[in-house]
Amino acid sequence: MLKGKTALVTGSTSGIGLGVAKALAAQGANIIMNGFGDVAGPKAEITALGVKVTYHGADMSQPAEIAAMMSYAAEQFGRVDILVNNAGIQHVARIENFPPERWDAIMAINLSSAFHATRLALPAMQAAGWGRIINVASVHGLVGSAEKSAYVAAKHGVVGLTKVTALENATTGVTCNAICPGWVLTPLVQKQVDAKAAALGLSNDDAKKLLLGEKEPSQQFTTPEELGALAVFFCSPAGNNVRGVAWNMDGAWTAQ
Ligand code: NAD
Repeated sequence: MLKGKTALVTGSTSGIGLGVAKALAAQGANIIMNGFGDVAGPKAEITALGVKVTYHGADMSQPAEIAAMMSYAAEQFGRVDILVNNAGIQHVARIENFPPERWDAIMAINLSSAFHATRLALPAMQAAGWGRIINVASVHGLVGSAEKSAYVAAKHGVVGLTKVTALENATTGVTCNAICPGWVLTPLVQKQVDAKAAALGLSNDDAKKLLLGEKEPSQQFTTPEELGALAVFFCSPAGNNVRGVAWNMDGAWTAQ
């Protein structure tokens, strides 16, 4: 379905971004990867799906590096048809103890990076008359949780940016939507499981159950594969008039 299209997925060396990149590659899209850590392993997993894969190591907190990544994408594939703004970090602390530099980093990586990549991707999508921008927000784009001030503020910002991007392009073939996962067992969440296990003297399994039990009525983690399938739907012809939604996949977290 996506043969001949190019998808840039930020933060695709791990977790949800890797799952989304693989789902888009399975539909034939060439992939531009981004993110830190091991690149070779994830790159091989995507390449095995029979598409072209390249990598750019832009630090998404740095607007100049984002601009360099977008120029690289245009050089490699002509343009970006599908932009997935996914890179993100977390820090957990009460507001009075929240390190200001962590606030700034979360705003830059989780929110401003989506603005910069979007503003640079839009002109070519508009000229082509087709484009998909998918912002990986969170249930925390819809509701709050204590000790996550920067993350919740940034993700609410991402949902707002999604709506404005959708509105400004509503008469074109460019759509923009947000995905709002509940708990997904990636390294970002495993750190929170580890912190809970250490603080309460629990096993890894009991800490996971406690984490799910606090928020997620289904008592199940959403998987990167399920989120990838939602991204594929947004890119399908059936998604042509799905615009500006914040679609939660959260085991009924926000239904409460
Ligand atoms: P993860 O830690 O597995 O992956 C994060 C990715 O972002 C990695 O590839 C990492 O290298 C990259 N990254 C981090 N800082 C970066 C930077 N400065 N520049 C470039 N890349 C950078 O985490 P994940 O859980 O897969 O998170 C992906 C997205 O999903 C994030 O935006 C996160 O907020 C969101 N999310 C996660 C969950 C969850 O439960 N895991 C729930 C809702 C939303």
